[in-house]
Amino acid sequence: MTHPGLTDRFGRVHRDLRISLTDRCSLRCTYCMPAEGVPWLQRDTMLSTDEIVRVARVAVEMGITEIRLTGGEPLLRADVVDVVDRLAHLEGPLGRPEVSLTTNALRLPALADALHDAGLARVNISLDTLRRDRFHALTRRDKLTETLAGIAAADAAGLAPVKINAVAMRGVNDDEVVDLTQFCVDRGYQMRFIEQMPLDAGHTWDRHQMVTGEEILAQLRRRWRLTERGDRGAAPAQVWDIDDGPSSVGVIASVTAPFCGTCDRVRLTADGQLRACLFARQESDIRALVRGDADDEAIAAAVAACLQLKRPGHDIDDPGFLQPDRPMSAIGG
Ligand code: SF4
Repeated sequence: MTHPGLTDRFGRVHRDLRISLTDRCSLRCTYCMPAEGVPWLQRDTMLSTDEIVRVARVAVEMGITEIRLTGGEPLLRADVVDVVDRLAHLEGPLGRPEVSLTTNALRLPALADALHDAGLARVNISLDTLRRDRFHALTRRDKLTETLAGIAAADAAGLAPVKINAVAMRGVNDDEVVDLTQFCVDRGYQMRFIEQMPLDAGHTWDRHQMVTGEEILAQLRRRWRLTERGDRGAAPAQVWDIDDGPSSVGVIASVTAPFCGTCDRVRLTADGQLRACLFARQESDIRALVRGDADDEAIAAAVAACLQLKRPGHDIDDPGFLQPDRPMSAIGG
C-alpha cells in the first residue's frame, strides 16, 4: 500500500524519485554553467552511497516505483555501478523500482554493460546538436564523437529505449530539429525536445528567446505526419507518432504547456536536500536526519512534510516568479 505521505495537498501521488549523484559535469554547456564551472558542493556535504540507499529504501517502502539518477553527470560518481545495483534491488509494496539515468553519455562506452548488468533499465542522453563545431561551442568541449559512441554503447548494451534529449535554442540549434529526429528514427531511438527553462547558473534565460513546443512541432510537421498519442499520465513529454509509427517524437513543453497538475516527481540533491519541485524555494534537510539519530519513520515523515509544501505549479509566467538559487547542475534534472 502506498504511504499517505506520498500524496500532496493537490492529490498528486508521487512515484518518481530523482537522485542527483554529483553536481560535477564533464561538459560546460553554455545554457547550464559558465566556462569555469560553478562553485562545487563540498565533498563532506555529499551523501555517501549508504546514505543515498537508505533514503531511497525509505522512499521505495513508501511507494516510489521509479528512480532516476541525475547530476551534474551521474556517471562521474566512481561507484555508480554499485549505486545502481543497490537501488535496483530495493523492494517496496509496489515491487522493485525501475532505475534509469540521465547522462551526457561520455562514460557509457566504459560503463554501459556493467550498468545494464547491475539493473539499470534505460538512459536519457543529452544531445543538442549533430554538428561537431556546434557541439564544441555549446558544451565547450570537442566531444561529439565520444558522445555518439556512448549513445551506441547504450543501445548495444540493451539500455532501451534510448531516449535523446535536446534543448531547442533559438539561433543555436533550432535548425536541427528535423536532423536530430531523423538521427533517432534511423536508429530506433526516441527523440525528446525540451523547452528551455529558467534554471541556468547565469540567470540569462529570456522567455522571448525560448523556442516553443509549437515551433518545434511546426518544423516536424513540414517533414512528417504527426499523430498525437493519448493519455501521457505523469510523463513530462507529449508524444507524437511519426508517420503512424513505430517511430515517435516527444516535446516537453514545460513553459508553454506545463504539466505540473500530474507531476509525480520529487528530487534529492547530491548534498541530501529534498526538493518537491524543480523550482522549489524550500528544501528539506534529509542529510541532517540521516547523519543524526533519525529512524526510518522520521525520514518518511520528512518526505511527507516536504511534499505538503509543494505548490500547484512552477509559476514561470507569474510576474513574481523567482528562479531557484541552485542551478540545474546542483538540483538534478
Ligand atoms: S515545475 Fe515542479 S511541479 Fe511542475 S512538473 Fe516540474 S517539478 Fe513538477
